Amino acid sequence: MINNQFCEEFLQIARDFEESPLSGFGPGKGSLSARDYSDSEMILITPSGMQFSTLTSEDLVVLDLKGNIIEGKRSPSLDRIFHLAVYNARPDVFGIIHTHSPYATAFASLAKPILPLIMSLVISAGGSVDVAPFAFPGSEELGQRVVESLGKKSAVLMEQHGVLAVGKNLSKALEVAGTVENVAQIQAITESLGGARPLDQKTINEGLIFEKNYGQPGNSTKD
Ligand SMILES: [Zn+2]
Repeated sequence: MINNQFCEEFLQIARDFEESPLSGFGPGKGSLSARDYSDSEMILITPSGMQFSTLTSEDLVVLDLKGNIIEGKRSPSLDRIFHLAVYNARPDVFGIIHTHSPYATAFASLAKPILPLIMSLVISAGGSVDVAPFAFPGSEELGQRVVESLGKKSAVLMEQHGVLAVGKNLSKALEVAGTVENVAQIQAITESLGGARPLDQKTINEGLIFEKNYGQPGNSTKD
C-alpha cells in the first residue's frame, strides 16, 4: 500500500512538469514514475493518455518490478516497460521522468548526443547524454537499449523519441530533465554559431570527483 503523502508529492511533481516548458501540447507528453521508499519493489506510475492536471491518487497505478498491477483501476503508461527496465537495473534510482522536451528531442531525432558544454550537465547527468538506438515504444528491446545507453548516468536520449531522466527521487529526476533541456538549447545555439565546444575529459573527471566529495547531500544540480 503506497502512502498518501507519497502519492500527493508525486501528483504535485506531475503537475509541475505539465506546467513547465518540458511538457508539450496535447496528450502524449511523457510519463513519470517513482519507487516506494518503504518497499523498493513497488513502483507508482502515471496512467496512459490522461492530462496530469486532472489526476487524483485513484488514477495512479502501482506496479511490481515485473509489471504486474498491484493497485489502480487505470491502464498504466505504455512507457512502463522502459521505466521498469531501469528500476530493475539501477537500485539507486527512485524517480524517473520521460519527456518530449523540444530541444533535447530534436537532438534525439538526429541521434546526436547532448555534449557536456557546461559543468551543470556533468554534475546533473554525469557527462554527455548519449542516444539509445531506436526501438518501438512499449517494446522490451527499447527497455534494454535504454538501460545499456544510460549506464550509470542520470539521463539518456531515445532515438527519434525523447528524453529519460532519473534521480534518487522524482523531484531530482525532474531537475535533471530540465538541465538536459537547457544544455540541449545551448548546444543548438553554439552549433549555429560555428560549433559546440565540450569540456575536456580531465575537467569532466575533476568535476565528478568534486561533486562526489563536496556535493551537498540532496543537491546534485547546483552551479
Ligand atoms: Zn514518449
